[in-house]
Amino acid sequence: MKIGFIGLGNMGAPMAQNLAAAGHTVTGFDVAGTVPEALSAAASAAEAASGAEVVITMLPNGAILRAVAAEILPAMTKGAVLLDCSTVDVASARAVAAQAAEAGLGALDAPVSGGTGGASAGTLTFMVGGDEAAFATAAPLFDIMGQKAVHCGAAGNGQAAKICNNMILGVTMIATCEAFALADKLGLDRQAMFDVVSTSSGYSWSMNAYCPAPGVGPESPADRDYAPGFAAALMLKDLRLSQQAAEDAEADTPMGAAATALYGQFVEEEGAGDKDFSAMLPRFAGKGRD
Ligand code: NAD
Repeated sequence: MKIGFIGLGNMGAPMAQNLAAAGHTVTGFDVAGTVPEALSAAASAAEAASGAEVVITMLPNGAILRAVAAEILPAMTKGAVLLDCSTVDVASARAVAAQAAEAGLGALDAPVSGGTGGASAGTLTFMVGGDEAAFATAAPLFDIMGQKAVHCGAAGNGQAAKICNNMILGVTMIATCEAFALADKLGLDRQAMFDVVSTSSGYSWSMNAYCPAPGVGPESPADRDYAPGFAAALMLKDLRLSQQAAEDAEADTPMGAAATALYGQFVEEEGAGDKDFSAMLPRFAGKGRD
C-alpha cells in the first residue's frame, strides 16, 4: 500500500518503520525534519499525502491535527483514508472526519494505548471511530502496528473510548496510591496490602498489573525509580481531554475532575511531568494532612 505518514515523533517514527518493514511504501513528513531511513522523505505534509491510499497522522493535539488536515485533505486522492492515531479532543476528531467526508475521503480516529514500547514492538491497541469501509481499508495496517483494533462506532468514538478509559485509569491510580500511603501510616506492610487488595474488591489494573509500590507485584515503573512508562504529563493531557468532553456533553464527572486537578498540581506545580504517573505514591507517602 502507498502510505503517507505525518508526525514522526516518539510514537509515529516506530509505527511508520513497522509499516515500511512489512513492505509498504511509506512517505513521511515531520516539521522537525526527522524522517527515519526506511521512509522516503517529503518536503511538506501535502506532498506526503498526495497519491497515498492511507494517510496516517500522529500529532501532539487537536489544533495541530486541524491545521494539518486543512493542508492535506485537498491534496489527497478521492477515496483515500485519513487515519489519525493521535490522542485529540472528540470535537476536533469529528470536525476533521466531517471535512474528509465532504472531500470524498474516508476518515478514522484511532488513538492508541501501549506507549512507545508498544509502538516499537507493533503491539498497540487501537480504539477506532469512523465508518466500516474505512475501517476495512485500515485493518491490515492495524495488524502490523498493533495487536488489537476495536471498532467503537462513528467518528469521534475512538477518542471517546480512549479518554473514558484513561479517566478511569487516572482515578484508580490515585485511589491506589493514596490507599498505599494510608496503609503505610497505619503500619500495614505494602506486600501484605498488595496480597489482600489484588485478590479483593479493591483490585484494578493499577494495583494488579502496574503496582505503584516498588518491589511489590509485577515489574512496573515503580521498580525503575518511576521512569515512564506513561508520563504524568501525558496522563494530565488525557484527563484534560476527558473534562473538556464532559463539559461539551454536559456529563457529571466529579472524580475525573478531581484527578485532573491533582495531576495538574503534580505536573505543573510540583514539576513531576516526566515521571511515571504512578509516582503519585511517593508524592502521597511524603505528605501529611495539611
Ligand atoms: P511527539 O511529540 O514525540 O511527536 C509528535 C510529532 O509531531 C513531533 O515529531 C512533531 O515535530 C510533529 N509535528 C508537530 N506539528 C507538526 C506538523 N504541523 N506537521 C508535521 N509534524 C508535526 O509525541 P508522541 O509521544 O509521538 O505522541 C503523539 C501522539 O500520540 C499524541 O497525541 C500523544 O498523546 C499520543 N500518545 C502518546 C503515547 C506515548 O506514550 N508517547 C501513548 C499513547 C498516545
